[in-house]
Formats: sequence, structure tokens, C-alpha cells
Amino acid sequence: MAEKRDYYEVLGVSKGASADEIKSAYKQITLKWHPYKHVNDSEEEKKKAEEIFKEASEAYSVLSDPDKKAKYDRFGHAGVDGQGAPDFSNINFEDIFGGSFGGFSGFGGGLNDFLNNMFGGGFGRRGGQPQERVFRGRDIRTRVKLTLEEIAKGVEKEVSIERSEPCPDCDGRGTKNASDVQTCSHCHGTGQEQRVTQSIFGQTVAYTTCSHCGGTGKEIKNPCRSCGGTGVVRKRVSVKVNIPAGVENGMQLTVTGAGHAGQWNGPKGDLLILIEELPHPYFMRQGKDLFYTHTLSVTDAMLGTEVTVPGLDGSFKVKVEPGTQSGTIVRLKGHGMPGLKNYTGSGNGDLYVKFLVWIPRKLSKNEKELLEGIRNNESFRPNLNRDDRDLFEKMKENF
Ligand SMILES: [Zn+2]
Ligand SMILES: [Zn+2]
Repeated sequence: MAEKRDYYEVLGVSKGASADEIKSAYKQITLKWHPYKHVNDSEEEKKKAEEIFKEASEAYSVLSDPDKKAKYDRFGHAGVDGQGAPDFSNINFEDIFGGSFGGFSGFGGGLNDFLNNMFGGGFGRRGGQPQERVFRGRDIRTRVKLTLEEIAKGVEKEVSIERSEPCPDCDGRGTKNASDVQTCSHCHGTGQEQRVTQSIFGQTVAYTTCSHCGGTGKEIKNPCRSCGGTGVVRKRVSVKVNIPAGVENGMQLTVTGAGHAGQWNGPKGDLLILIEELPHPYFMRQGKDLFYTHTLSVTDAMLGTEVTVPGLDGSFKVKVEPGTQSGTIVRLKGHGMPGLKNYTGSGNGDLYVKFLVWIPRKLSKNEKELLEGIRNNESFRPNLNRDDRDLFEKMKENF
């Protein structure tokens, strides 16, 4: 093992440093090098952070203890041999680096808790505001209007949006030189200011956004002129979106990473597209099924005929049986909307054609005479058979 460095040197303080100075020095090192803050870094960076933090923790555990400090001052490392190991942390670095920290807020809370334990509060909100601030770009919400025909086939749409993009002049850093990006000296990168006030109820601690850095936790020296140091610029772009067949009004599609770019090369937000289905001139849609109403003349309904019905995939002929009642519904299997995979199933819906019978409002003298002649014929007397009763029951339910 390499020669141990002097504990004062490790913390970067002089031999005569006060307890407060020692504590403050260790706090700075923790804020910068705590492994929680480097979980997203390269293996090399992680290793480095772990070593620096371990060394500082050991130094602090000795120098913050008056007894141990006295021994160390007198006898050096030999005086505290075996007592230098931090007794407070017992941090399992494997756990921190090994992925047992699920979410982002997980390690944020972890570090805040650690700092709060060590330094008595003030590090982030309880429950874990992320300590290492990553600036994820916001999501963008937009909507596309689609005709039923477009939905039936699926369509590629171009959506025009204005979004933040990484500044090309500074590669999203906010400044030409990486070294000009510094941790805010005012809030030490937390983005928050702590205000302690005394009142008759005791001490009150309030957190506000850091006035120095506006809550970003960063200080950008020599900010890039194109983006003002934010690392992002506004741009109108057109995004191609593949809309699958079978979507429905009110559904939302997510285009991952097509939203705003994050500040300082933070992750991109998503583009959320709300589907708006335009009303169709003659089809009504319910899920995968389509409904169409066809009006027959009295004579066609009585004598039977063949009519042409429009479909989304071309029109087709439908036979009208003699004696078709008003309200009769014919189901044309498979001529409805396509299903949406994993959502409404893969098969097509049906097209329902409802026949209504139109009664003439005005009749000529001849027509009247003709009809008077057959008015009392047996076959004109309403006679609901079983099928008709079923039909009328159905009509009550559906229409
Ligand atoms: Zn600040
Ligand atoms: Zn820039």
C-alpha cells in the first residue's frame, strides 16, 4: 500500500485549522467527490471519486474527533493506526455503483440524506431532490388531425415544432471551453439557498432557489454568445411521425427524444402527439366498427333492390331484400377499421349499414288514388313477425 498522505493535506487545510474549517473542507470534498455524484460517470471517474472520498472520510473521521486529532498531531498516522477508518459511513461502494440504485431520485435522496446526517440538514428536500442536477429537456405536446381514411391506412405526418436544440457553436456546453463550466460557488451546485431565521417558535429553515445561479447549480464563465450560456438554441424543425393504422381520437403517441434538448447536453425530452380524428362526412366510428346510414325509398324497401354503399377501401354493392323494414341493420364483416396492434387487436372491425325508409311527403292525385286502392289490402296491415320484433328491440338499444 502506498504511503499515507497527511490528513491535513488530504482535506486541504493547514495544521492550525479550526473544527469549523475542517468540517467545511470535508463538506466541499463530499459535495464534489461523493460516489453518489458520480454514478453516471466512467469507471475511471468512479474509481477516482471513490478513492478521493474514502481518503477524505478517513482524514475527517480522525481530525473531527478531538481525541484522535490530538494523537494524530502528536504521533502522526502511527498514533491513530486502525482508528482512521470512517465509523460513520460504512458505505458499500458496490451498492452505489452496482445498480441497486434504481432511479435517478434514488441516489439524489441518498446523497441528501448522507449530507444531512453529516452536516445537519440543508441538502435538498426530504424525499430526494436529485443532488447532481441533470437538466432533462421538457416534453413537447402537439396534436395531429387525421381523417378516417388516413387512420385506416396509417400515415406518415410531418409535425412542425419549435424546440430547443444543442447550441452548435459551443456543442451544448454553454461556453467554448469546458473548464469555464464551474459549480456555483454560492450554493455549491445544489441550486438552493438555505435561509435560517429565528422566531419565537425556534429555528426555521427555508429553501429558496439560489439567487446566484438561478437554481442551475452552475456558473458559466465566458458564456457562448449564440446561446447565452444555456447550451441550447431555439429552432423550428419538422419531425416525421409514423402514425400506425387504427389509432383513435384522444390517443397519445410518444416520440422518444424528439422533445426539447436539455440544457448543457442534458437528456432530451419526448414529443407527445395527441391524435385528433376529424369527423367523417358519412361514417360514424365506434372503436373498430363503422356505421353508415342508407335511406331507401318506400318502393325499394318493399320490392327489394341493390344499393351502392361507400367503404373506406372503395364502394361495394349491398342487396336490399324485399320487405326491408326501416331500421334494418346489415353487417359487412371486415369492412370496418383496422385494429391497432397490442391495443384493439389485429383484425378489422365491421361496417354496419342501417337502412331507413323514407316516406314521401307529397303525393300526386294519381299516386293518391293508386294507394287508396290498396290501402286496406291485407298485405299492408302491420304484422310484426318475430324477426321484426327483434329488430325493433335492437333499435331501441342502439339508436
Ligand atoms: Zn447557485
Ligand atoms: Zn452556445
